[in-house]
Amino acid sequence: MKRITVIVLIFIMVFSLSAASVSAASKNTEKPERQEITSILPGNHKLSLMWNKVEGDNVKYEVKIAADKHFTEDAKTFILDGSDNDITRTKLTNGQKYYAKVRTIVTDENGKKFYGSWSYRKSRVIKDTSIYSNTSIRGVPELRYMTYEDNDDLLMLINKYYGVPSDYYPNDMVSIASKYMTYSNAKMKEVAYKAFKKMYKAAAEKGLNFKICSAYRTYSTQRSLFNNYINSRGYKTAFVLSAYPGRSEHHSGLAIDLLTGRNGWSLTNSFANTKEGKWIKKHCAEYGFIIRYPDGKTDITGYGYESWHLRYVGKTAAKEIMSEGLTLEEYLDKLPPGYKG
Ligand SMILES: [Zn+2]
Repeated sequence: MKRITVIVLIFIMVFSLSAASVSAASKNTEKPERQEITSILPGNHKLSLMWNKVEGDNVKYEVKIAADKHFTEDAKTFILDGSDNDITRTKLTNGQKYYAKVRTIVTDENGKKFYGSWSYRKSRVIKDTSIYSNTSIRGVPELRYMTYEDNDDLLMLINKYYGVPSDYYPNDMVSIASKYMTYSNAKMKEVAYKAFKKMYKAAAEKGLNFKICSAYRTYSTQRSLFNNYINSRGYKTAFVLSAYPGRSEHHSGLAIDLLTGRNGWSLTNSFANTKEGKWIKKHCAEYGFIIRYPDGKTDITGYGYESWHLRYVGKTAAKEIMSEGLTLEEYLDKLPPGYKG
C-alpha cells in the first residue's frame, strides 16, 4: 500500500513537471514562422534588406548574404538583435548578383533556441545607383543625368552630377515682392514662394527678419558667378564654393539664399549663430524647406556648409530630411532605385 502511494506520487510529480515545461514552451518558444524579406534594395556597393519585425522577448534574426546562391563558402552571416529588422551590407562589388535570406531565432527561458524556416531567397544585382559619390574630385564631374524640362518634381535634384541645360526654365515662376528681397526683380517657383511667405510671417511674429539675397538664377548668371569665383579664389576653391553653370540648384527656382541684418547682411555661416539662423534651422522644415548643404556633409553634397542656402522640397521630405540630419542626396538614395534617372 505504502509502495503504491510512492509510485503514484512519483508519477504525479513527473507528469506535473512535464506539463509545466510544455506550457512554458508553448508560451513563446514555438518554432517561429517563416520570415520573409519585405524589401531588398541594391545601391552603390551595397545591399539593404528589410523584413517583418517579430514581437516578443529574446528574438534575434539570422541573415545570410552571399554572391553564391547556395550560401556556401563566401556567405556572410549576421546575427542581429530583435530591435533591428534591417541590414545594409556595404563594400559589395558593382555588377555582381548577391543573394540574401533571413530567419528568426527565439530563445526560451531555459536558453533553448528555436529556429524559424529560412525566408525564400531573394537576390539583386549591385548597381551604381547612388546619386553621389566621391565629390572630393575637383573639376566638373561627368554629367549623369540631365533634367531637360521642369516636371514640377519638388525633389528634383541638381548637384555636381545632375544638371539642367542652358535653356532650362522652371514652370510657374513668380516675382518676389521687394519687401522679401535685398535686391529687385528676383523670381522663384510659386509653390516655394507661397511657403516662404508663410515662413517669413511666422518668423516676423517672433521679431525676426531675414531677406532673400538670391533665388532663381539663369545659366548665364551662374556662368558669370562661377567665373568670378575662379578669378578671385582659384579653380579648386571655386568648385567647393560655387556651382558650374547648369549644376546650380538655383536653376530650379526652388532654392534661396537668406541674409539677416543681425550679422550685417553677411553671406557667411555666422548666419547660423544669429537668432534668425537658429530659428530657420529649427522651423524651416515645417514650411517645406531644408538646409541643403549641412555641416559635415561635403563628401555627399560636394559643397561646404551653407547655413543660408534653403531648398524647398515639400513638408513631408523636409521633415524627414531635417529631423534625421540627411542631405537631399541621402534622402533620394533611400527611395526605391529608379526613382531618379
Ligand atoms: Zn545658394
